[in-house]
Amino acid sequence: MKTLWNTISRHIVAPTQISAGQVLGLLTPFSRSVHVRRHAAAVIIARVQLIAMLFAVLVPLWAVIDVLVFEPAVAWPLVALRLGSAAVFVGLAWPRELSSRRPYAQAMVMLVVMLMVPPVFYLASMQIIEHSAFSDTQRLVAQLYAFMPTIVLGGLAVFPLTALEILLLALPVTGVAVLGMTADGEALNLASHGATLWFMAMMMGVAMFSGMSQSHYMESLVLKALTDPLTGAYTRRSGSEALELMFRLAAMADKPLTVLFFDLDHFKAINDGYGHDAGDQALCTFVERLRQSLRRSDVLVRWGGEEFVAVLPDMPARELAAFLRRLRAAGFGERPQGGALTASIGAAERQADGALSWNALVELADQRMYGAKHGGRDRAVLPGDEVLSFTA
Ligand code: GH3
Ligand code: MG
Ligand code: MG
Repeated sequence: MKTLWNTISRHIVAPTQISAGQVLGLLTPFSRSVHVRRHAAAVIIARVQLIAMLFAVLVPLWAVIDVLVFEPAVAWPLVALRLGSAAVFVGLAWPRELSSRRPYAQAMVMLVVMLMVPPVFYLASMQIIEHSAFSDTQRLVAQLYAFMPTIVLGGLAVFPLTALEILLLALPVTGVAVLGMTADGEALNLASHGATLWFMAMMMGVAMFSGMSQSHYMESLVLKALTDPLTGAYTRRSGSEALELMFRLAAMADKPLTVLFFDLDHFKAINDGYGHDAGDQALCTFVERLRQSLRRSDVLVRWGGEEFVAVLPDMPARELAAFLRRLRAAGFGERPQGGALTASIGAAERQADGALSWNALVELADQRMYGAKHGGRDRAVLPGDEVLSFTA
């Protein structure tokens, strides 16, 4: 079963591998880290702008066909509709900065606006064309317009989206298509609308498949660029970016944000006694163990050598002592010569410490880590300089 999955996954997302758990993560956007979310937003906006630019030119050009095919009473309202659509596309393509606060919301709004233009155009064009006498060419052009919602669904395939996002984005588009089908008072029925609806569902399926595999590919590239190759923790640079964003979000919502600063105790002795590889192994085990106690939304950063910073949103100062006791009880791994690997920990919390910036928070946690080190190691210093010794 596992080998079968591996074979399939290798073909789907080559050259990266994907686990069944990662596939679940691609169904909804909620488990994406801030970095991945931001990157996805940037990719979506860039593609929306590229497509909008293209359509801002193509949509008015097609007016020539309208004028040639339809009588003036139909053609000119269609041309006006085209100019209106083109104006929306120009607005979308207009150069803009990625929102530093809500890049994801910005991307989604732009995407929805772009997606809704063709279906709305289709609905409006139906009203205009409805009463005109049809020649074959006119019927062909009108039928082409009716394809617009379906084409839009297929177009979703170019965006790195999760399955749920595709489903939600497809709803209004499908809704408009159904409105169009029933506009003349006709009820939905299998014989005349079944094929189109089936085709739309197929398009949505293709878009889901493509969106998820793009999402996964993007995620693995982003994570590779942002994480330390040895331990898989965030690098100091990407970690600082995440911290800055998380601090701003916590400050805006007036929520707690805890920073833990870890420095492993007597780490040099491991290198000196058992070699650098044993030291590396101890670092990996430390990160693995820590990860097991952290939530998905927490961010773990390799701040330098054997110093790590963990960023915990929504962790209030009053819950810290219990949390750290559990963390220490779960263990940080073993020393090669036997005995527990321990760390000196400094903790700082945005609200309890009245910190005004993420730098100040890390600085404070660093100072408290030194306090823990000088106090005798294997302990934590908490906000209010409360000492939590694990040795007793
Ligand atoms: P203390 O309890 O005072 O923290 O003692 P310590 O020996 O841990 O002292 P310090 O924190 O100054 O030592 C850091 C050591 O970590 C020095 C360096 O050789 C080692 N180190 C840093 N990065 C790596 C790494 O990537 N791999 C290995 N194996 N060792 C590393
Ligand atoms: Mg150190
Ligand atoms: Mg150390």
